[in-house]
Amino acid sequence: MNLAELTVHEASRLLRQRQISSVELTSAALERIERLDPRVKAFVTVTPELALEQARAADKALAALTLPSPGPARTANAGEGELLGIPLALKDVLVTEGVRTTCSSKILENYVPVYDGTVIGRLRSQGAVFLGKTNCDEFAMGSSTENSGFFPTHNPWDLETVPGGSSGGSSAALAADECLYSLGTDTGGSIRQPAALCGVTGLKPTYGRVSRYGLVAFASSLDQIGPFTKDAEDCAIVLNAIAGPDGQDSTSVDRPVPDYRQALRDDVKGLRIGIPREYFGAGIEPGVERCVREAIALLQGLGANIGECSLPSTDYALDTYYIIAPAEASANLARYDGIRYGLSAQAPDIWSQYNATREAGFGSEVKRRIMLGTYVLSAGYYDAYYLKAQKVRTLIKQEFDRAFERFDVLLAPTSPSVAFKIGEKVDDPLAMYLNDVLTIPVNMAGLPGISVPCGLSNGLPVGLQIIAKAFDEETILRVAYCYQQHTDFHTARPSLG
Ligand code: GLN
Repeated sequence: MNLAELTVHEASRLLRQRQISSVELTSAALERIERLDPRVKAFVTVTPELALEQARAADKALAALTLPSPGPARTANAGEGELLGIPLALKDVLVTEGVRTTCSSKILENYVPVYDGTVIGRLRSQGAVFLGKTNCDEFAMGSSTENSGFFPTHNPWDLETVPGGSSGGSSAALAADECLYSLGTDTGGSIRQPAALCGVTGLKPTYGRVSRYGLVAFASSLDQIGPFTKDAEDCAIVLNAIAGPDGQDSTSVDRPVPDYRQALRDDVKGLRIGIPREYFGAGIEPGVERCVREAIALLQGLGANIGECSLPSTDYALDTYYIIAPAEASANLARYDGIRYGLSAQAPDIWSQYNATREAGFGSEVKRRIMLGTYVLSAGYYDAYYLKAQKVRTLIKQEFDRAFERFDVLLAPTSPSVAFKIGEKVDDPLAMYLNDVLTIPVNMAGLPGISVPCGLSNGLPVGLQIIAKAFDEETILRVAYCYQQHTDFHTARPSLG
């Protein structure tokens, strides 16, 4: 077995028992990247020297530890958490000091930040080992990673298919065991959908649970950072490390962070699980529905109380999202003007320079969103589009609030389909947007959601989505953990040689 195939909790135990070293673990991940990534293409930047240097430092810290086994991350001192010495990959929209951060855009191809985002700093203080930066749709706009300004990423389960998006590099790197865990971002589904398509576990935390400082902004009222892991237990460990208020992000919420590991109980007896009718409508592949229904039946067999519910505004979530997200993106992306960051085209005057830089630097999806966003915010259209969309957003949230009066969690498919062929939807933006019809409502309402593997359809992974009320990641992790104690879909891996 290659060491990179370990889960975080397994690797952490072996590191502390001195059965393996962080240098061995990191070398194993680097070896897989070198061997497999020419085919998977999950990484935009790999930093082997830095990673090995961090691994050597982690080995020193591990040698100084007297603990025989890992304590809970929350009570551990800096450098003693369970992530000490464990190699990870970062979506390339997360700002890293001294390591280029491209957002998979030509406009930032050579941009090297001078600071670390909060989440990166927190992982660094735990002694994490950073392998490099992963590919994504340009500025996180997309559902297949084909909108990357550099190259598409391939799904390790079938290299002809997409890994999902926008965090497709992070999910593919994990599914290929090129890292032990990774981070992505989710604005409309970009953690849960690629997790589903690549057969890994992916959590989108509640809006405000994890600091966005140092996450390059796409749609600021929706963006949230979260982990891709091999199981729910690892998810709890990573969330422990990254969650919590941050003075640098005024939207991070000042609520105490529980020890998410304590939530991992093999017990769903009496838990009230709601099945939203609208999430099983037209457009869901039969194989996807079958796997999700089987998962629901399994949880029922374990003692959960299952009931149906309705979220009637689900149908409007996608339309609303494609007003609000582009509106915010058009404002956020105005900073890329060729003067302050990245690419700078030469031109005789300032206006031509702005235009030439954006023309050369942005891909077509990013341009489409900027135009859409500028349009819906323009005088005369603002009330009809943007303001109305915000009102619908409130309705969506209220419907979830009502559902959570009756239920502890809601279950649904993560994505209507399994991984589709590279090229199949690139020329049809609407077909591409429909991928997120089941994940977007959760972002609109600011809720937490996870995707866990729940079977295969046509040989490709299917994701089960678990949604809870705001700041109830604990119940999500409990259901995911319990489900994984009784199934082994999360341990299945593609055969890449
Ligand atoms: N696919 C959606 C979009 O294109 C969501 C992206 C995301 O969550 N970053 O906007």
